[in-house]
Amino acid sequence: MLGEFSLIDTYFNRQTPLRDDVELAIGDDCALLCPRPGQRLVVTTDTLVDGVHFTAAAGPRAIGHKALAVNLSDIAAMGAQPAWLSLALTLPDVDEPWLAQFSAGLLELADRYGVTLIGGDTTRGPLSITITAQGLLDDARCLRRDAGQPGDWIYVTGTLGDAAAALQPELMNRSPVAVQQQLLQRLYYPEPRVEAGCALRTIAAAGMDVSDGLAADLGHILKRSRCAAELWLESLPLSAALRAATDEQEGARLALNGGDDYELLFTIAGSRVAEMEQALATAGVTYQRIGRLLSGSPQLNLTWQGQRVTWPVSGFVHF
Ligand code: ADP
Ligand code: MG
Repeated sequence: MLGEFSLIDTYFNRQTPLRDDVELAIGDDCALLCPRPGQRLVVTTDTLVDGVHFTAAAGPRAIGHKALAVNLSDIAAMGAQPAWLSLALTLPDVDEPWLAQFSAGLLELADRYGVTLIGGDTTRGPLSITITAQGLLDDARCLRRDAGQPGDWIYVTGTLGDAAAALQPELMNRSPVAVQQQLLQRLYYPEPRVEAGCALRTIAAAGMDVSDGLAADLGHILKRSRCAAELWLESLPLSAALRAATDEQEGARLALNGGDDYELLFTIAGSRVAEMEQALATAGVTYQRIGRLLSGSPQLNLTWQGQRVTWPVSGFVHF
């Protein structure tokens, strides 16, 4: 059976060339990195546990992709450019076809964003994947959760609710195969909004990525920015697949409370909107205005076509 070190060499030590700010990567006690003077380092860690964050049904390639995508989404949510990643992998056994697919999914995404795998750890145990990703900012400006101001417009990139829909057996069963496939693609292969995050860094006010559901995540901005908000439920952006699979209100409920969207949620002063529209058009990312920050204590006021409604608000709760 493949030993630990040839496993690392065969499946993980295969990116060339390395970034030029990596002096030493896989193979020594530590990696050695050289950010430029003045740059800020942004650092995030996320763990995916078998049976909690994914099931074997996803397949190893998707698991590798998603383990990195959720971390790159956090880097994007700060407005930073992702640079390096470390991988702590716990495996029940050495399954080479699994490792080949897993590493291909992970490294394909890393290569696409110019991110170098600089090291990690490999242990035996129940399948779990922890990635630490690091990104760079050219200066102190970034997208923080506490930077929202009353009066800011609230926007979200892309569309919401597809991944949550893919987890509803009844909805999936009544949908055409093509729709099922599009919803599953969003669940298994989320695309981190790296270009959009970088484009918004110096323009937007508050920002974060939507991972636990829009309502729960917007709640974090409200708390940290000490604002209330109105959210226009009929404006939540839904994909064509989700529209095909649901009626309008069911779709909006999934967009509000689902999770695993990995879109960017941001607030912006009215005076910066034209600049933002130009920047996101250049980045090739769609966006939708979905509400407004208000003065007051953190509270989310929901409306449907102008009328106040009290839909249940949930979001992913970890414990
Ligand atoms: P140490 O015992 O000094 O911590 P290890 O023997 O655990 O080092 O790892 C050897 C090298 O392989 C290190 O550079 C480490 O960062 C790297 N490494 C270990 N596991 C992985 C992995 N899953 N992916 C990428 N690099 C890894
Ligand atoms: Mg060591």
